[in-house]
Amino acid sequence: MMILTAPLLLGLALPVPQPSTQDSAVLDAPAKTNLERALDTINADEIRSDLVFVASDVMGGRNSPSPQLKIAARFIRSRLMRYGFQPGAQEGSYLYEWQINQIGFNPEDAKVTIASGDETFEFSFGDDYLFPDFKSLGMRDGRGSVVFGGDMKADTLAELEVDGAWVLSTTGKGVSGKSRRALEKRGAVGVLVLPAEDASKTVKEALGARAARFSSKRLSFSPSANRAGFPMLHLTESAAKSLPLDSLEGLEAGAKVDWAVHEKCAYGDLGEITLENVAGIWPGSDPELKNEVIILSAHYDHVGERPDGTIFNGADDNGSGTCGMLAIAEALKEYGPMRRSVMLMWVSAEEKGLLGSEAWTKNPYLPGGLKPICNINIDMIGRNASDEFLITPTKKHPAYSALTQVAEANAESEGFTKIKSADAYWARSDHANFEQHMGLPVAFLFCDVHEDYHQPSDTPDKIDYDKMRRICRLVVRMLEDLQVDKPKF
Ligand SMILES: [Zn+2]
Repeated sequence: MMILTAPLLLGLALPVPQPSTQDSAVLDAPAKTNLERALDTINADEIRSDLVFVASDVMGGRNSPSPQLKIAARFIRSRLMRYGFQPGAQEGSYLYEWQINQIGFNPEDAKVTIASGDETFEFSFGDDYLFPDFKSLGMRDGRGSVVFGGDMKADTLAELEVDGAWVLSTTGKGVSGKSRRALEKRGAVGVLVLPAEDASKTVKEALGARAARFSSKRLSFSPSANRAGFPMLHLTESAAKSLPLDSLEGLEAGAKVDWAVHEKCAYGDLGEITLENVAGIWPGSDPELKNEVIILSAHYDHVGERPDGTIFNGADDNGSGTCGMLAIAEALKEYGPMRRSVMLMWVSAEEKGLLGSEAWTKNPYLPGGLKPICNINIDMIGRNASDEFLITPTKKHPAYSALTQVAEANAESEGFTKIKSADAYWARSDHANFEQHMGLPVAFLFCDVHEDYHQPSDTPDKIDYDKMRRICRLVVRMLEDLQVDKPKF
């Protein structure tokens, strides 16, 4: 940041002072066009200097929500202000706020009752039983019989009648992912695990720390709230001892146990939160066409960190699009007004299901009655072969429009000799919402996934900054081509 401050304050794109355009004209060199000057501002080292901040460890993986996501939004906003962009959100703000309810596991809403003969035993989460994993969480309130699982091996489990029943394990262990899916398919309710007598750790020692995470960690947004889950329920030693275990003696695998289990698990409402999309307007100059706006978008969130503190830096996904759009903002500043207006929008919660763009496209705010005409979305533009990128929609896609041709027509000027289809990724980034909810022609520029995709290893040192530079230049060229009286789409 320090390195960049001085030249940027002076309004220079190059590190050493150069003659201004006017001086060049005096010296008889042909004056550069607006486009040439704009393209010249896009510089690989400057993009890198932004990305090493946005994708740094202190940004904590830019989860939605997180304090660092707010910091990223304010960093972007500062740049928009510096470049002279107008606020693109309500009441003169650059931050479009949108609300969503968060949900999470609420231990208070979880309960297990086991009935045996005339007796009933009530168990509460944490003290009496624990889950080993997130897959055990869900929205459930149901009753089931109990079937003895014997040695709990896959072959044994495959023979059991499990429809409507809990499978009882006395080995101290639950089941593997594969057996779990098979049991779930055959109608099993869950797996009830009694502690092994010879275990080296108590159930609480083994699973207690994880359980604490279930209640503190905010799991998911509401779209997945209806998931029932498939519980593995580990009874603690004291809870197990309270049960009539004598009745289990001598049972064979598949035998019915004379217990009835009623289990409740629920997501509690963790309250409404506010997230922000960052939006800036570069107003047009044509008296008529300035009322039309081209929307560029990139998501600025990523997936945060693991509970153990491992950070997902998200340099390519989507630090690249985030910082690429900052470079495009600077290029527009150099260009001056285009005939049409341009909106740059950085959206949040893409990684949670394209939620920030969904919120905006379902309830768009455009100052001064601007009419959107198309969307260009960039996500992951910094990796893989330097001479190729992917685009969707292609001709084979129902949403195909001439906007794709505008990208294709400019590819070679920026050294891209191969353009591949990103149709398989159609629903995987924010352009899909602009098409679905607003009916806009869209183009998604993308440079494909790689071995570091959604891994902690997606770091800034692996980015091809020159490739990013050329993708950004391509987008600016597209913007200029879209200034004709009537774009084809
Ligand atoms: Zn992602």
